[in-house]
Amino acid sequence: MSANAQGNVRKVTALCKICGENLVVEVPNSLFENVTRFPVEHVHVHGNPPHGITLFFDKQFNIRGTEFIKNISLQGPETGSRVIPKKTGTIPPMAVGLGMVSKKEFRVLKFCDGKASVAEISKNAGIPPNEVEETCRQLASRKFLKLED
Ligand SMILES: [Zn+2]
Repeated sequence: MSANAQGNVRKVTALCKICGENLVVEVPNSLFENVTRFPVEHVHVHGNPPHGITLFFDKQFNIRGTEFIKNISLQGPETGSRVIPKKTGTIPPMAVGLGMVSKKEFRVLKFCDGKASVAEISKNAGIPPNEVEETCRQLASRKFLKLED
């Protein structure tokens, strides 16, 4: 990237069909760098609840198409990691043998003392945070756990 182009944005206006707002969308020039295939798309997320508009640009920076995305869940890497799952009771190891919980669920449950967050359980159990979160949600839906933010 040349020094000139750095931080350069192009502004385009587009009407959002979802919220009816006339949006000013800033599109970084870098979008057009190293592009071999056009149109190139840029997603602009805004509003509450968040929704998006996808703009398709051709080489000349003309908008060739728009698409609207209604349902967006924004999930940063840390989202959900702060949730603190708490066991509702003691799960005996034989629960695994009985098929009440899977091995992974049992491992996660061991760390659910109501103090450790999903992020900490992930570290302690050696299971990726998204898997811990998913496991906790499943366990919570089966009333083995309560989830507290
Ligand atoms: Zn909108």
